[in-house]
Amino acid sequence: MPRAFDRPAGDTGRGHAVGETSPVRPDVSAEDRSRLEAIEAKVDRAERLSFDDGVFLYQTPDLTAVGRLANRVRERLHGNRAFFNVNRHLNPTNICYVECALCAWARKPGQEGGYLMGLQEAVDHAAETWNESVTEFHIVGGLHPTLPFFVAKKGEHGIERVL
Ligand code: SF4
Repeated sequence: MPRAFDRPAGDTGRGHAVGETSPVRPDVSAEDRSRLEAIEAKVDRAERLSFDDGVFLYQTPDLTAVGRLANRVRERLHGNRAFFNVNRHLNPTNICYVECALCAWARKPGQEGGYLMGLQEAVDHAAETWNESVTEFHIVGGLHPTLPFFVAKKGEHGIERVL
């Protein structure tokens, strides 16, 4: 289960209005700032944003403003609470036959730097990294050209076995 934390007393998390807190950024025009403020007013009225509003928020360089607006909606829906997941990553192999442009981690079969854990090694590694605060094992790896899929079953103290 994710854990919930209350914000410290006095921290409203509300921030300020879009125009108040965002420093005057040279890459955000007065016209765009005014558009952001109009969207902010919609958010405060709990009004559904339009498709064009969404495209505008996607394209604006003012990510801080977008994050602040998103946080207002989050707090309206879920109150003054944040949930955190404490996880451990288990990456059984970095050998992968796919070539995603974003990936600097994967190695081709036979390429230097590639590794492949045995199943027991993966289970042992999970056990080493587990402690009672861990709420999830995030298991992901390269798409190995010959290995089958496997399913890991969580036990009381980490991953119990691999099926
Ligand atoms: S490891 Fe994942 S992200 Fe990297 S190339 Fe393979 S499929 Fe793509």
